[in-house]
Amino acid sequence: MSARGVLLVTGGSRGIGAATARAAAKAGYAVCVNYARDAAAAAGVVADIQAVGGRAAAVAGDVAVEADVLGMFEAAAALGPLTGLVNNAGICGPIGRVADVSAETLDQVFRVNVLGAFLCAREAVRRMSTARGGGGGVIVNVSSGAASRGSAGEFVWYAASKGAIDSLTIGLAKEVAGEGIRVVGIAPGLTDTDIHAAAGEPGRVARMVSLVPLGRAASPEEVAGQILFLLSDAAAYCHGGTLRATGGL
Ligand code: NAP
Repeated sequence: MSARGVLLVTGGSRGIGAATARAAAKAGYAVCVNYARDAAAAAGVVADIQAVGGRAAAVAGDVAVEADVLGMFEAAAALGPLTGLVNNAGICGPIGRVADVSAETLDQVFRVNVLGAFLCAREAVRRMSTARGGGGGVIVNVSSGAASRGSAGEFVWYAASKGAIDSLTIGLAKEVAGEGIRVVGIAPGLTDTDIHAAAGEPGRVARMVSLVPLGRAASPEEVAGQILFLLSDAAAYCHGGTLRATGGL
């Protein structure tokens, strides 16, 4: 049994999710590391955790596919009772303007970022709710500063999907407040991960950094630190809100 129970991190193989998985293991969680395609990266995160005496398991699965989500939660249960979910898996789609976006991009982004987060939140509530025999826990939804900026000319659909995540955080927090579950969000700003290359612009961080009042991008590790704070008892009164951690952007 791990001191803080079991944390499921969706999209835990790379970027913010991988940094969160490593930090959570150091904080005493057994970590279920979900990934979509990059099995080697997920195995690397698990190996890093095990190398320092932690417990972790990797599980493949697309958050937008209900059967895969059920499989992820089964894999997490094999590590022990669930005490936390970091709803982190997310995609932007290729950079562009609304007038040019394909229905396929809209479908993919909303399926992964919104449907996926809802399915995972639902399953976490079913397992952690004290009204259903669970022991309580924390859900951290990974939003984005884009939700309030709108991301004009880049990916308005992505910004809108994160706006939906903020509403999920507000509403679900009210639903489960009496069931031992805290629900909070984190809205990172420009963070140095692969997501920018995946959107078609590997140099996006360098291009955008001058717009950030703090003058730099965040590292995945510092976003992970903020997520670990939100998971901790130090954030016991944070419920229903989304912490903006955007360097002022
Ligand atoms: P990233 O480096 O591109 O990593 C994305 C992770 O999500 C990978 O582990 C990937 O798995 C996984 N993933 C993608 N689609 C998935 C699916 N359908 N099912 C399960 N897992 C899936 O991204 P990141 O920058 O760390 O972003 C993490 C979260 O932070 C996202 O929600 C993003 O919107 C948010 N965010 C990022 C920034 C930023 O500037 N980077 C800013 C604000 C918010 P594979 O390795 O298998 O592909």
